[in-house]
Amino acid sequence: MNLEPEFWKRKSLLEMNEEEWEALCDGCGKCCYRKYLRGRGKYERIYFTRVACDLLNLETGKCGNYSRRFELMDDCTKLTKKNLPDFNWLPSTCAYRLLYENKPLFDWHPLISGNPDTVKQAGIMITNGVHEENIIDWFEFVIDEEN
Ligand code: SF4
Repeated sequence: MNLEPEFWKRKSLLEMNEEEWEALCDGCGKCCYRKYLRGRGKYERIYFTRVACDLLNLETGKCGNYSRRFELMDDCTKLTKKNLPDFNWLPSTCAYRLLYENKPLFDWHPLISGNPDTVKQAGIMITNGVHEENIIDWFEFVIDEEN
């Protein structure tokens, strides 16, 4: 990758090129865990779970078939500049959400640390994940977002 140093501080999300956009993902894999909404209007609440998409590698946080993910999983959604405003369900640590909300990236982000392992070392990844195909009731697997 040939990225300009600290490009995320100088460019808005809309100004970033494809390579910069992709580099923002820290690889935590948290967006690949199931969530569900309950309630309506001001009572609406999002619940995070440790139930993972069946394609997710629970150890590495990487998709097991990234190139065919949209073909294999009907509900897999591509994060783009256009739909970012709707992605308020992204974890509060996610670089796309942070920058969209005008917040700085965390020091453990690989763009700052220079090391992809710092995401796991900082405890950002979800632990004890289970694949959706192995569970019946998502409610048993609800977690605090920060877990
Ligand atoms: S939650 Fe954000 S940073 Fe983590 S894998 Fe998903 S897009 Fe990447």
